[in-house]
Amino acid sequence: AARQRTRVDCACWRWLKRCFGSLSLAIQPRRPVGGYEGLIGNTPMVQLQSLSAATGCEVLVKVEYLNPGGTSKDRIAASMIKEAEATGELKQGGTVVEGTSGSTGICLASLCRAKGYRCVIVMPDDQAGEKVELLRTFGAEVIQVRTASIANPDHYINVAARLARERPGYVFMDQFETEANLKAHLAHTGPEIWEQTNGRLDAFVMGAGTGGCLAGVSLFLRGKGCPAKVYLVDPPGSALFNRVRHGVCYSPQMSERDVRKHRYDTIAEGIGNDHVTGNFGKAILDDAFRVSDQEAVYMAHYLLKHEGLFVGCSAAMNCVGAVAAARRAGTGKRIVTVLCDSGSRGISRFWNREFIEARGLKWPLPNDETLENLDFIEI
Ligand code: PMP
Repeated sequence: AARQRTRVDCACWRWLKRCFGSLSLAIQPRRPVGGYEGLIGNTPMVQLQSLSAATGCEVLVKVEYLNPGGTSKDRIAASMIKEAEATGELKQGGTVVEGTSGSTGICLASLCRAKGYRCVIVMPDDQAGEKVELLRTFGAEVIQVRTASIANPDHYINVAARLARERPGYVFMDQFETEANLKAHLAHTGPEIWEQTNGRLDAFVMGAGTGGCLAGVSLFLRGKGCPAKVYLVDPPGSALFNRVRHGVCYSPQMSERDVRKHRYDTIAEGIGNDHVTGNFGKAILDDAFRVSDQEAVYMAHYLLKHEGLFVGCSAAMNCVGAVAAARRAGTGKRIVTVLCDSGSRGISRFWNREFIEARGLKWPLPNDETLENLDFIEI
């Protein structure tokens, strides 16, 4: 009877294991964390089944839009504020001021709320309205300026720097130049990718706004002796592609007309630049891919259709870049990229059919065959 009971127990145990074994592996609850800052980082990495099958490579994406502020900018916002506090520049009751296309501003505005600082955000007037509304809701003062080249004193970065010089208690975060940006990715994003891939990746690819993420991750990978290729993804009109591919850049004296053209030329937000910033300049890059707006639109719809993932333009461009990297690497390789922000930040532009068609781009329908075979990628 005892043996019989043991056999039943074993069968029961096997059944329980079958039912809950995989579940207990999948669920790893995080311990309670300390406020907003405790939610930053440790973002998941997802294998895109569709793109992996289509390319013959393993395409992995780090889902940075799951940070509390909706982008990886939480990492650098925390790092820049911490540095300003440590140097004594930022004191209780002080004001954080930053020039940003929006994402960094949203994360700074949230952190300022949590820490009791005032927040002033200077941004170009051609960004999605959702970001401006969010910033104001979060209590930031938003100053919108006309798009201009970096050589113009009215460029949004120059305006933010000027405010900090002129107004007492204002501290300029300077995300494009400060090492606190790159360091956040060197200390966290890079090591997280390393751990999530068991140190085995063949390419890392992404666009650059400040270039902080690309610089931090590429420096980390090189520091580990990782042979992975690191590629820049660049939108139309940005000067960074030529800088990487041909060693030339039209900037910093790029003409006003060219800058406006760059802004007009692309629907991408948060990536591309008219000049090489301090953070971008430190990235170690093997090559660059130019990605078109149309490719980004198709890729975003492809990801929604095949993965149920709703991403923004820069994330879609990164995935186009991942396919380009996969084609260059050959089958069986592991390609890593980043989903920067979610589609909900671009409802009025990138995810608005009228806006896309008014730009002369094609809005794919759910049964669009182009979406099936990645034919829309030209690289
Ligand atoms: N995607 C989005 C949506 C962004 O806002 C940014 C930064 N402005 C980036 C990508 C680029 O990140 P990084 O500044 O680290 O180059």
